[in-house]
Amino acid sequence: NSFADVDLGDVLLGNIKHAKYTKPTPVQKSALPIILKNRDLMACAQTGSGKTAAFLFPIISGLLLDGAPEAPPPYKPGVPRAASPRALVLAPTRELAQQIFDEANKFSYGSPVSSVVIYGGAEVFHQINELDRGCDILVATTGRLVDLLMRGRVSLSKIKYLVLDEADRMLDMGFEPQIRQIISEFDMPGCRDRQTLMFSATFPKQIQNLAADFLSNYIFLKV
Ligand code: AMP
Repeated sequence: NSFADVDLGDVLLGNIKHAKYTKPTPVQKSALPIILKNRDLMACAQTGSGKTAAFLFPIISGLLLDGAPEAPPPYKPGVPRAASPRALVLAPTRELAQQIFDEANKFSYGSPVSSVVIYGGAEVFHQINELDRGCDILVATTGRLVDLLMRGRVSLSKIKYLVLDEADRMLDMGFEPQIRQIISEFDMPGCRDRQTLMFSATFPKQIQNLAADFLSNYIFLKV
C-alpha cells in the first residue's frame, strides 16, 4: 500500500515523495511488481489511472540498477551519430509524448538517467541536438521516430524496455505500419532481449493481435 513496499531505489522514492504521490493507484499496485519481475505486460487501463508512473517507475529503477548509461560516441565529421536509448516509449500524440517526457524527467531527477522526446510538427534539428546530448529514455511519436531511424540518428540496438502507450489510439490513428516497422528494428541481429509493456484502454481483436505479435509470455492485467 506504499511505494516503499516495492524495490524502486532511494533516488526514485525520494522523487515520488517530493511529487506527493502518497500511495500507488490500483494500476500501479498491480503493474509495478509484474514489471519489476521483468515480465511482459498487457494492461487495460484508462487515462488518469496513473499508468504513466506504472511503467516509468520500474523502467527508471531498472535503468539505474543496470548502471550509468554509456557516454554518447565521439563526433566524427560526416558521420551521423546515433542515440542509443535503453528504453523506448511510443505514444499516439505529441501532447501525450510531452506529458510522459515531463514525468520521466520529474522522476529521474538527480540521477544519471536522461530523457528525450521527439514528435512531428516540430523542428527536427533541435531534436537531433537533444539526442546528441545523451538519451536513456526516448519518448516518441511513431512518424518522427521512423524519420530519425532512417536518418541514422537513433539506434534501437540497446533497447531493454519497450512501451506502447495508448496502443488502441495509435491503431485508430492508422500508425500500425509504423509500429511494425519500428519493432522490426528490434529483430535485427545483435539486439538485446527486451521487455515489452503495452497499455490500452480497450482490448479489441487488433490489439490482441499486436500483443500476440510483440509480447512474449505476457501477463494480462485489467484495472
Ligand atoms: P496518468 O494516468 O498516468 O495520465 O496519470 C494521471 C494523473 O495522476 C497524473 O497527473 C499523475 O501525476 C497523477 N498520479 C499518478 N499516480 C499517482 C499517485 N500514485 N498519487 C497521486 N497522483 C498520481
